[in-house]
Amino acid sequence: MTIKSKIRTIPDYPKKGIMFRDITTLIKDPVGFRLVIDNFTQRYIKGDVNFDVIVGIESRGFIIGGALSYTLGKGFVPVRKKGKLPAEKISHEYELEYGTDIIEMHKDAFTKDTKVLLVDDLLATGGTALAAAALVEKLGGVVSEMAFIVNLPDVGGEKRLKEKGYKIFALTKFE
Ligand code: 5GP
Repeated sequence: MTIKSKIRTIPDYPKKGIMFRDITTLIKDPVGFRLVIDNFTQRYIKGDVNFDVIVGIESRGFIIGGALSYTLGKGFVPVRKKGKLPAEKISHEYELEYGTDIIEMHKDAFTKDTKVLLVDDLLATGGTALAAAALVEKLGGVVSEMAFIVNLPDVGGEKRLKEKGYKIFALTKFE
């Protein structure tokens, strides 16, 4: 069994022409979910990538980031959509295809110079990851690496993020 083989593709979702890569079929499978977490754990347990905390992007980033925080013995910080966090927060507005979106993180999530592993399920245009990185940097944190289950290199996010100096790691890709 491979991670890629367990990801379901839904054509024309959420709109015509988009091939949505659905990871729910991967993570509902106990072997599939374990493969994902074991693969990430093997990469990050060695300590070659230096980070203090895992930042997960709502909502599928919470599923992977939460489990990975446990296996790696690191704390977990959520990046949430606007209006969900209760304490003092910082916000970042970013462009979508139509309109804008706002994500937030608690102001006291971590201290200056904290090294961060950013986690989400999928990298497409890179807009979401860039926005999350901007939040981390607003707090004085440093993104050590960005980790995804799926990379869609043809959409351009990998190139865009690498050009800005970010390191990318993904378990599989669809071209
Ligand atoms: P980007 O900002 O890189 O264009 O899109 C990535 C964000 O949108 C991630 O938070 C991801 O969860 C979501 N996303 C976009 N396309 C897909 C897709 O095909 N499958 C999944 N599972 N998530 C997607």
